[in-house]
Amino acid sequence: MVVVAGVTGLVVALSAWQEGRESPPPTPASAAPEATPDTPSGRPEPRRTPSPSASAEAPEPAPSHPVRKKVSYAFPIEGCAGSYAAEHHNYPATDIFAAQGCAFVSPVAGVVDEVGTVDRWSASDNRGADRGGKFVSVVGVDGVRYYGSHLSVVASGIRPGVRVQDGVRLGSVGETGSARGTGPHVHFGISWPGPPDQWWVRRGVVAPAPFLDAWRAGRNASPVAAVAEAERRLGPQSGECRQYC
Ligand SMILES: [Zn+2]
Repeated sequence: MVVVAGVTGLVVALSAWQEGRESPPPTPASAAPEATPDTPSGRPEPRRTPSPSASAEAPEPAPSHPVRKKVSYAFPIEGCAGSYAAEHHNYPATDIFAAQGCAFVSPVAGVVDEVGTVDRWSASDNRGADRGGKFVSVVGVDGVRYYGSHLSVVASGIRPGVRVQDGVRLGSVGETGSARGTGPHVHFGISWPGPPDQWWVRRGVVAPAPFLDAWRAGRNASPVAAVAEAERRLGPQSGECRQYC
């Protein structure tokens, strides 16, 4: 059942959210600014765009239908121009090209899921699990997982379990992993939350471009329904990588 799966994911996300409130870890906003050379000067603090619907102080009860939950979304590149194509090779995802060091921010409030701080990729073996280089994934309050990779650096304080608001800096645009030499960009993937290291799902199962278009225009388009449909269609066979592995 699509709706049941969606609600389950939402409940899991909300549970993680509430657990996080009991002993809140340091947030990126309170952490020291990154000391990396490619941090754009003049923007040491992550942007915060609190809204009543996404307030951490008053999470909404689980709605009867997850698509109707009001969630604020942010375009995942902040402070720099980002360009992207509607299509991606091999599977649904979007490569967002922006200058090296530009801020990659969380598109939604949620909890950091997985973080990769070491670039293990090499061209000789081109292992699928390593192609993302340095990366961060966040499970949003909408129950959807968002993934950005090829980062030059993961932002200070970003680690699994940390609660973030939409617009909080997760890392910096780079070309780690298989993006080496292709020009700095963030590979952006939208998926349902899955087991750790199930990278073939994490890299993307739904085309993000229509949602990026909306978020950039200030509209709160939600991928919840599209992800639920993808999970219904692809979930049963997602236990192993079947394409571009
Ligand atoms: Zn890509």
